[in-house]
Amino acid sequence: MEIEKGGENVMNEKIYCAHCNKMTDGQIISKVELFNVRGEDVKVNASVMICKACNEESFVEALDEKNLEIAYLEYRKIHNLLTPLQIQEIRDRYGLSQRALSKLLGWGEITIHRYESGNLQDEVHDEVLKLIAKPENLLEIYEKQAHLLVPRVGEALKKRINELIQKEIQPNFNKALEQMFLSERQIGEFTGYKEFDLEKIKNMILYILRFHETYRTKINKLLWYMDFLCYRVYSVSISGNSYTHSSYGPTADDYELIISVMLRDVLIGKDEIVVHQAIREQLKSTASCDESIFSDDEIEIMDFVLNKFKKFKCGEISEYSHEEVPYKSTVEGQKISYTLAEELSFDI
Ligand SMILES: [Zn+2]
Repeated sequence: MEIEKGGENVMNEKIYCAHCNKMTDGQIISKVELFNVRGEDVKVNASVMICKACNEESFVEALDEKNLEIAYLEYRKIHNLLTPLQIQEIRDRYGLSQRALSKLLGWGEITIHRYESGNLQDEVHDEVLKLIAKPENLLEIYEKQAHLLVPRVGEALKKRINELIQKEIQPNFNKALEQMFLSERQIGEFTGYKEFDLEKIKNMILYILRFHETYRTKINKLLWYMDFLCYRVYSVSISGNSYTHSSYGPTADDYELIISVMLRDVLIGKDEIVVHQAIREQLKSTASCDESIFSDDEIEIMDFVLNKFKKFKCGEISEYSHEEVPYKSTVEGQKISYTLAEELSFDI
């Protein structure tokens, strides 16, 4: 008799009944049974085969295995042990093979394979697996045991662990950063009478980068024009950021910091391009812009500025900004007041 794994397709199978001493019709029924797991009785809703003629149970190995698997799951629940699927999920987070993870932990080569296939794990091993669910803990183990892995696997693992650690600390880090930015920017003429909004300036950058890569310097100038034009029209800026007069033109404060955070969080990427033997950086978006955080008026302002400077090269928009009154009426290192926005060379 052939039985498919999982006990399906065994309804009304022909079975050999030892009691009737012949081939008879069998039927699977559900029955509460006690299984002994590590010295404990575990109650299981077991599936058993009975002979339809005499109602006696008939042993079927596949069903017995399935029942034991259920007993293990029940035992895991009682003792708060990881399930085979959870073990696999932890391993998958790091992109490791079963063998590589076993090696790294100093276990027998097929240990993880056995656990993921349903074998009940050792309780000490269970603790270790829960521990390494946190990437910083696996990093500690990795640093001691990396020599046990093939170099290529080790390097990929280290990269992956660091990515996961970054991801965990990222929200806290960004919050702290925003607090710092806020404390440095008093709402007033230098923020365009708006509270600084980190998410907004990030999304302005993503908005600029929606359709094509743009030079780092040009983005800086576009931000200034967007914020200042918005102030000119609506008496309030978009991002609440402040801008300073630098020799390169008006410059968004903490621009480099904001860009490096966005690069680190993989919201944007960069390409280095050699232009006239100088290395220039083009930024491109790797995440989509959340346009819902902008009002229709803000979108209109941003579109207007993007369209106006569409054909401008980096140097051209820089030169253009040098001629603006708000720039010319300030000196190097001085913050540019939004009240000067009415002197911009164009209006919407
Ligand atoms: Zn029978």
